[in-house]
Amino acid sequence: MATNSSNGDTQKATKQPPMPSPLRFSKFFQVIVADNFFTGSKDNLKKWIGHPRFELIRHDVTEKLLIEVDQIYHLACPASPIFYKYNPVKTIKTNVIGTLNMLGLAKRVGARILLTSTSEVYGDPLVHPQPESYWGNVNPIGVRSCYDEGKRVAETLMFDYHRQHGIEIRIARIFNTYGPRMNIDDGRVVSNFIAQAIRGEPLTVQVPGTQTRSFCYVSDMVDGLIRLMEGENTGPINIGNPGEFTMIELAENVKELINPAVEIKMVENTPDDPRQRKPDITKAKELLGWEPKVKLRDGLPLMEEDFRQRLGVAKNN
Ligand code: UDP
Ligand code: UDP
Repeated sequence: MATNSSNGDTQKATKQPPMPSPLRFSKFFQVIVADNFFTGSKDNLKKWIGHPRFELIRHDVTEKLLIEVDQIYHLACPASPIFYKYNPVKTIKTNVIGTLNMLGLAKRVGARILLTSTSEVYGDPLVHPQPESYWGNVNPIGVRSCYDEGKRVAETLMFDYHRQHGIEIRIARIFNTYGPRMNIDDGRVVSNFIAQAIRGEPLTVQVPGTQTRSFCYVSDMVDGLIRLMEGENTGPINIGNPGEFTMIELAENVKELINPAVEIKMVENTPDDPRQRKPDITKAKELLGWEPKVKLRDGLPLMEEDFRQRLGVAKNN
């Protein structure tokens, strides 16, 4: 969440003396991070702790949050299938009650709010690649529904608050994202394969292995989200890398780049796994002037370097 120090007193409609803080006229943002640390890690924030314009609160978005901000990046929700399926009721509460609370906060203080929605709103898509106009093919009662239907309701809430209360909204539909500082045990495919390759364990490709995903490097994703927040379009806008790979191709790339000695092993899959996924990013290009810059083969080694440091395994051993 960001507070622009030049107008951090947005909710005050009545005449009051200006804020005494010297930061009031600063062009710099102040950042408040609210996290319940279910999947997030304090390690990823440690370089900011103690910074004068940074604040960290342990908070769960399913509870009311009373702070003063100008912009809200609402990113809260586990995004890895193993984490969101671990407590599906909590996942759907986070998407529904959490989004409602963030919208209530946006309404009270007059903040602009950006929701990170997901490519999962397209379900197991029957249209390929997926444009924003596609309504999706989603199972409402499956094991993934807490996440994909949860995000669909979150998008509905965003548009209802926008139409009914005039809240300034932005919706990004994020496609698979990877990069340094991901939880090593996150359970998603890129972090699994990289950790497995470094440890010399078999790369676990879930059957059939021909299913596809499109992987966006984290710095490209952050750039896209900021452009969306600062621009004039509500979205939804797809933000993702259109480079599409089967899971077998991904495993082969990881093997070649990280550990050619490692084996590729086929394992069981989970229900409702989407068979193909690739963003149509025409809107992002036209409306945000955005497209990803980092190719998969350039991003994987950057993530490998970070994972090696954290796992304590040097290259070439
Ligand atoms: N809310 C919040 N912070 C605020 C204002 C509201 O967390 O600064 C939450 C509050 O818990 C409420 C929800 O946002 O349940 C929706 O707020 P809204 O004002 O839209 O609805 P109401 O309070 O009338 O139910
Ligand atoms: N997958 C895999 N091996 C793994 C983890 C995942 O082959 O160790 C496959 C999974 O079946 C899916 C794809 O990788 O087709 C992406 O799964 P992930 O959990 O990374 O994210 P999703 O896109 O399903 O949310």
